[in-house]
Amino acid sequence: MSAFNVAKFGGTSVADFIAMSRCAAIIENNQNTKLVVSSACSGVTNLLVELANGVADADSRAALINQIADIHHAIIDQLSEPTQVEKQVHAILDIVTSASEAASYQSSHKLTDHLVACGELMSTYILTQVMVERGINAVRFDIREVLRTDDNFGKAEPQLDEIGSLAKELLVPLCQNHVVVTQGFIGSDEDGNTTTLGRGGSDYSAALIAEAVQASGLEIWTDVPGIYSTDPRIAPNAQPIPEISFNEASEMANFGAKILHPSTLLPALRDGIPVFVGSSKEPERGGTWIRQEVESAPPFRALALRNNQTMVTLHSAKMFQACGFLSKVFEILAKHKISVDLITTSEISVSLTLDKTDTSGGAPELPQAVKDELQDLCTVKVEHDLSLVALIGNQMENRGYAKQVFGVLDDFNLRMICYGASDHNLCFLVDSSSAKEVIQHLHGELFEK
Ligand code: ASP
Ligand code: MG
Repeated sequence: MSAFNVAKFGGTSVADFIAMSRCAAIIENNQNTKLVVSSACSGVTNLLVELANGVADADSRAALINQIADIHHAIIDQLSEPTQVEKQVHAILDIVTSASEAASYQSSHKLTDHLVACGELMSTYILTQVMVERGINAVRFDIREVLRTDDNFGKAEPQLDEIGSLAKELLVPLCQNHVVVTQGFIGSDEDGNTTTLGRGGSDYSAALIAEAVQASGLEIWTDVPGIYSTDPRIAPNAQPIPEISFNEASEMANFGAKILHPSTLLPALRDGIPVFVGSSKEPERGGTWIRQEVESAPPFRALALRNNQTMVTLHSAKMFQACGFLSKVFEILAKHKISVDLITTSEISVSLTLDKTDTSGGAPELPQAVKDELQDLCTVKVEHDLSLVALIGNQMENRGYAKQVFGVLDDFNLRMICYGASDHNLCFLVDSSSAKEVIQHLHGELFEK
């Protein structure tokens, strides 16, 4: 392992001059941090996406580009030595101008990535200069030289072996004597075209880079002081969790969507790199450590809620004491690349929920072709408006815990209870309309007493 630490700053953490200065202070406070991964300044990626979708009217386009320019100028104006950075940012703004004109004629995923990458390309010029002006020996590095991906523009797949060897060759040596500032979210394919890992992807970038340089730790600085016991907007008494094990965190899948990009923990898990999540606005409040070994193992650590669940129930008398029925079902699902999340079985029925594999807002659908094929085997019932409640903890199979959990839920209809496959997770479905209340009841009983 390299002895150094990787720190990632999200969009709100680099939103303006003060925010960037806080990042610099965080870097100064940990001499081990040699690699900094940054998002675009808050709001910039959204504006770039709008341009990439194609804005036909030249004035509207110019207005959007001005907004982007203003966000960056407001920071540059506060630098002591703005000249160089100003030139660098203007060069990127020129790319934004020409690419958004091109997109107004015809947009494409490839052009979109070329355009939306500009946010991170600009923020890192400025963040580097903010650090230099505070006396940090910072240099900017273009991560496209290392973060090799396939050419699936918009959601490119990282090529781990190449990233590993390029990082060793180009990045690690630079980190010996510098604090290297680089971009999250972006990469490039083997032909040198710019790619992106998908919205919110800079956490994932940081984790991939940490893995590639074999970092001793990965800090994710965002605008919340860690992962909470549950969403504080639902249960106002929710508290940040000081630590959570990889095993528990993996069962939580869900906190990913809101605080961390869901893939962030994969590289850390593969290499056992501890991950810290904290708020760059209030670093003194601490945050959450996610690691292999944790000191505490409470029965109840967190409560996660995932809305928009699709439950599929398959029913057939042929299933009764028959071999191979499930394998036929899963063969069909696998053929159509349908990923299953939860599953429960009875003698002649199987219920399962569909995994959400895209970033759209709605519930996953069972495509008609899949339904048709399944219907040759059994009856198929699809239900929506369900939410998944997952209770994460330790040794949950122990006596008494289930009673404590279900005891508070007398008044609710519970569907599809999954308990026993992991001693870190107990989860079930409820009607979406009662999901918040269920979380409030459970949080009150299990976390607030
Ligand atoms: N700037 C990108 C986005 O807003 C990536 C990130 O912030 O993680 O999606
Ligand atoms: Mg972000």
